[in-house]
Amino acid sequence: MKSGFPAPGHDHAQCVADTLTRAEEACEESGRRLTPLRRRVLEALAESHAPLGAYEIVDRLKQSGDQAPAMSVYRVLDFLVSEGLAHRIESRNAFLACNRGHDTEGVVVFLLCERCGTVAEVTSGAVGRDLARAAGAVGFETRTPVLEIKGLCESCRRADALKR
Ligand SMILES: [Zn+2]
Ligand SMILES: [Zn+2]
Ligand SMILES: [Zn+2]
Repeated sequence: MKSGFPAPGHDHAQCVADTLTRAEEACEESGRRLTPLRRRVLEALAESHAPLGAYEIVDRLKQSGDQAPAMSVYRVLDFLVSEGLAHRIESRNAFLACNRGHDTEGVVVFLLCERCGTVAEVTSGAVGRDLARAAGAVGFETRTPVLEIKGLCESCRRADALKR
């Protein structure tokens, strides 16, 4: 998946592999270490296109035989978010692997499907500039322009249309 919502029946193993490859490259570039636990947590996140809570990640690790205390998982999530390898989805108190990287321009818009839980991200330069201008008018400097928009993804909308 490059951007947008994953197509039904897409090669999901490739999604996971792409996310890990990008993380390895990003860490190499920034000189940070993708430790086995960091890698494993990112992999668990990438396995789902719906964001996962920290405790869900702990559970998934446990199921695959990797015991990691919640505190360590939280620390890893902080690392992944600060390196731009994962995002925190505030309204769900959960985390999403990022497989695309971001330039600093524009606002990141998370599209949250209320039916299947999938989250896709898109970037909008125009919205970012507009927001910065509106915020600037009240003397506010935007730092992490992130929006979360709820709605229905294409495959859930198709499923709805079939029922009608
Ligand atoms: Zn996928
Ligand atoms: Zn992202
Ligand atoms: Zn959906």
